[in-house]
Amino acid sequence: MNDFVVVAGAGGFIGGHLVNRLITEGYNVKAVDIKPLNEWHQIFDDAENINLDLRDSDKSRKICQGINQVFNLAAIVGGAIYTDRNVTESLMSASININLLKSALKHGVHKYFFASSSSVYSGNSPFNEEDIISSTSQLGYGQEKRYSELQLQSVKKDLQARVARFSNVYGIHMTWAEKKSHLPLDLCRKVILARGSKEVEIYGDGNQIRDFIYVDDCVEGILKIMDCNSSDPINLGYGEGNSVMDLIQTVRGFIDYDFGIRKNTTVPTGHKEKVLDISLLKQITGWQPTVRLEEGMQNLYDWTDHKMRDYR
Ligand code: NAD
Repeated sequence: MNDFVVVAGAGGFIGGHLVNRLITEGYNVKAVDIKPLNEWHQIFDDAENINLDLRDSDKSRKICQGINQVFNLAAIVGGAIYTDRNVTESLMSASININLLKSALKHGVHKYFFASSSSVYSGNSPFNEEDIISSTSQLGYGQEKRYSELQLQSVKKDLQARVARFSNVYGIHMTWAEKKSHLPLDLCRKVILARGSKEVEIYGDGNQIRDFIYVDDCVEGILKIMDCNSSDPINLGYGEGNSVMDLIQTVRGFIDYDFGIRKNTTVPTGHKEKVLDISLLKQITGWQPTVRLEEGMQNLYDWTDHKMRDYR
């Protein structure tokens, strides 16, 4: 295999796992991220690692020269509270996709993947790809995702566009910074700090339901979707709903101490229920995610525990 690919957002959580997998598969990877290299979640010597702001159209112009495939996972990402407070910043991620697409079209890229999100949906879950999207559940972030999806739909005669709508992705190497971290890591961190019967604070009443997909499954799904023949958006989730309390019970199942729970209902927690219908994914790719919540959360908990020892 001598396929040349760009991974945008390679210094982030999912991007780092994707770069690792693509290198293992024999691809030549150009890994791009706005963060300085020493802040990347994972870095691989076998990739060409580039520090670049993809919102800069001049500097992004040549990024797809000699490239066959592009994976765009670059965006301003945070948990529910962060996204709620950074609407304008989230909207600006649209310019990343515009600049990458312009470069891809100019240099004759064959396939282009865009990482979208279940945040494009509103209304009642489980969400199906055909649900009418008149307004999204998340101002800024969800709107940017939908807008970028539409950019791809409008150029699909010029390149093979692929779009996946991720549910809640979790796993090792998740974003560590507290103001941007997501629920599964946040919970592991609090539970570890609560050793010795202390309390864990959760946001909301604990009944919010999400669809948690382990990062290895997410990466596998990206590659399956890249290989299929559909340029329409495809849901990429586990296809099962679990509440915050379910996550807590899962963690309680493998630790040997207990803790109390304090519910903070004063902060925004987003949609009440967000679960993806993954029938189309199964039908088109003949595959579905396999990592159970128990296994995924145990991996994340162990990794978090190990990482926190470095801080103690
Ligand atoms: P992440 O924040 O870890 O990774 C995104 C990366 O994009 C970051 O490293 C960031 O520095 C980089 N980036 C931001 N602006 C950039 C710019 N102007 N130029 C170059 N790089 C830039 O987030 P993630 O969880 O790995 O998410 C990857 C993609 O998947 C994102 O598009 C996100 O919206 C999407 N997504 C993630 C989830 C999830 O649960 N993690 C769910 C739905 C969709």
